[in-house]
Parts: sequence; C-alpha cells; structure tokens
Amino acid sequence: MDATNCRVGIIGAGSTGVYLASLLVRQGYQVDLFEKAARPRTDGCGILLVTSGMNALAQGNPQLCQQLIKAGRPAQRFEFRNLKGGVVNTETVTLQPDELPSMLIHRKAILEALLADLTDLPSHNIGFHFNYQFESLSQTDDGVTVHFTNGQQWQGDVLVGCDGIFSQVRRFVAPEAKTCYLGDLVWRGIVADEQFCADGDFILYVRGRGIYSNFFDIGGGYTHWGFFIERVQDETEIGRPRPNNKTIPAQELAKLPSEARFVIESTPTNQIVTNFSYDLDPLPILHQGRVVLLGDAAHAKSPSRARGMTSGFEDALALVNYLNDSQSVATALAGFEAERLPIVHEYQRSSREISRKTGRKKQKTAA
Ligand SMILES: Cc1cc2nc3c(=O)[nH]c(=O)nc-3n(C[C@H](O)[C@H](O)[C@H](O)COP(=O)(O)OP(=O)(O)OC[C@H]3O[C@@H](n4cnc5c(N)ncnc54)[C@H](O)[C@@H]3O)c2cc1C
Repeated sequence: MDATNCRVGIIGAGSTGVYLASLLVRQGYQVDLFEKAARPRTDGCGILLVTSGMNALAQGNPQLCQQLIKAGRPAQRFEFRNLKGGVVNTETVTLQPDELPSMLIHRKAILEALLADLTDLPSHNIGFHFNYQFESLSQTDDGVTVHFTNGQQWQGDVLVGCDGIFSQVRRFVAPEAKTCYLGDLVWRGIVADEQFCADGDFILYVRGRGIYSNFFDIGGGYTHWGFFIERVQDETEIGRPRPNNKTIPAQELAKLPSEARFVIESTPTNQIVTNFSYDLDPLPILHQGRVVLLGDAAHAKSPSRARGMTSGFEDALALVNYLNDSQSVATALAGFEAERLPIVHEYQRSSREISRKTGRKKQKTAA
C-alpha cells in the first residue's frame, strides 16, 4: 500500500499504541495517536519482557531494543520457593548465540524510551493528541470517522484500537466480548533494594494458602514485587478495576517469610498499585471493516506467562508488515487477523490455564 496516502488513527498511547505509531511513522504513514489522559502514562511497575517481545522490538527498531537492554536487567535465574522460604526449583537462563535476553525492566523505562523515539521522528507525519477520549465511530467502504468526548472528530483510512483491557473501540468490533475476573487481587510495587534479588534474579513464592508472590531485580538498585491474594469480589466491585479497600490485609502478608514481607513493607505507599486481575475471553475476530484491535484491547490475558506487553509489540510489527505488503486495507487487516488470531488465542488459553491452576476456589465471570 502507498503509506504516504494512508492515514491511520490509533486510540491509546500505552506500549502497544506508541510502538505501533513509531513503526508506522518510520514507514511514511500519516499517524494520529489519541490518548484520553492529559499526558503520557509512564507509570507502572516491573515488567518481564520475554524474548519474543524483544525480537519484535529488534525487528522493528534495533536501536530501541538495545536501549532497553541497557535500561533493565537480563533475566538470569528463576528461583521457585515455598511459603517457608525453601527452594523448590531453580532454573538458570542460558542464551543461544544471537538470542536476545528476556528483560526485567521498569515499565517507565520502556514507555520513556518509546516516547523519546517517537518525538525524534518527523513531526509532520504524526499528531499526538492528549485529552482525547474515544467515544464512538462510524465507517463506510472509503474511510472511518471517530468521535471524541471533547466534541472533536477524526477521519482516516484505518483505525487501530490500542485502548487496553477495558477498550471502548472493541464495542464496534466484537460487542459480545467479555472480561473475566480471574479471582486475584494484586498489589505491585517498586522499592530501592539490592539485597533480596541478586543481579537478574526472578524469585517466585509458589501459590499456596490463597496467596502467590514474585520479586525481581529491575536494575538501578530497584526491585519489583507482586503480591496476589485470592479474593471474591463484593457486589459493588464486580467489573471494576480496583477494590474498595486498597490496604494489603496483614493476615495475608503474614503468610510470606519475613525476608520477603520486609521488602513489601519497606515500599513507600505511593509506589504501590493495586488492581483486580481480569483477562478477556478470546475474540472470534480482530477487525471489522477498517477498524482493528491490538494489544490488551484484543487479547488481555493473565500475567502468568508474561505475554501481555510482548504480544502488543508482536501485533504492532505484524500489522505494519501487512499494511506495507498489501494492496488494500481490507487485505492487510484480513491477513493480520489470520496470522495473529491463533497466536493470541494460544497465549490467552495457556495464561488463563496457568493462572487457574492448583488450589483455587471457583471463579465468577464478570460482564
Ligand atoms: C499484574 C500485572 C502484571 C503484568 N506483568 C506483565 C509482565 O511481566 N510482562 C508483560 O509482558 N506484561 C505484563 N502485564 C501486561 C501488560 O502490562 C499489558 O499487556 C500491556 O501494558 C498492555 O499494553 P496496551 O498498550 O495494549 O494497553 P494499556 O497499557 O492499557 O494502554 C491503553 C491506553 O489507552 C488509553 N485509553 C483507554 N481508553 C481510552 C479511550 N476511550 N480513549 C483514548 N484513550 C484510551 C489508556 O489511557 C492507556 O494509555 C501485566 C499486567 C498486570 C495487570
């Protein structure tokens, strides 16, 4: 397709949307990126960015990939412990020649690198619009029109929904889609600590007694931790991202060995985030006409296999390749869907299966 005659709108400036924008602008497409927040959302916690995600970055932007290798820590060792602190299993990472590492890294470092890269690109090819909340869309054979809650509208050739797990664009592609509560309430934090996790360590306290926890080194003297408890939602919490009470229950934290508990307890409260864990039932399609879904909007999954951010980068690379190699938007989006649907379904299936394993109570499905 002729990139210079193709106007692409992207809803959502998370990792998927920003990476897609930079790939498209590099190829000469006219891109408008819309974000409902007032500024780029670079907050968040630690991310395990597995090798397939690193490959998707290396193929699209090798320099960015190298930057992230410097900004985080290559994963070196996965250690599985029981709740008494005993080591159950250790896996040391061995890379093949030329294999990219899986990275342990702060989400902020990833987003800042992606945004800096985008800012360096020719500004006449990209419009970056904050305070633009997607509201609705209509489309014809010739184009898409988008309406925003601020009264503005946009017209173009392709619209890409990268607006996360609670996507609004998805209503126009797969209105029957359902998020599913996975039964976990999660706290995550970043703390200045170099003692608990050595260089490139990922430590997991395997699920038991209704809790699960992980800790990993993200470089720069910081450790990421995640603490999950199994919890039935109150009636008022069903379908909501966060609980009414955000305090970690002391009796649940007490189930962790003292050295792990200490890491969590020494984290400043403003560095802790909490949310219910949801995933998305697999969608039967990823596009409808000229509108296509990528990243969490298309296939949000349990973090159990760390395929979330990675699969958004893979989607972005695949979509740009199909747009470049196809004669029309229709063929490009059909090719993209045929390639990606089986892959993302497998990620969703296996991530949900692992997350539901062993000793869990029955879960409820939320609309
Ligand atoms: C507990 C937990 C741990 C995780 N750990 C990992 C991990 O280790 N490794 C990994 O790869 N993944 C992990 N993930 C998943 C990963 O964080 C997500 O898959 C990834 O961030 C999704 O990126 P995205 O850009 O698709 O969506 P998002 O990051 O959700 O971005 C969506 C953007 O769209 C904007 N938006 C939303 N609605 C609108 C609207 N109506 N109009 C305009 N803008 C809108 C939002 O403000 C946001 O900026 C984890 C997730 C959780 C919950």
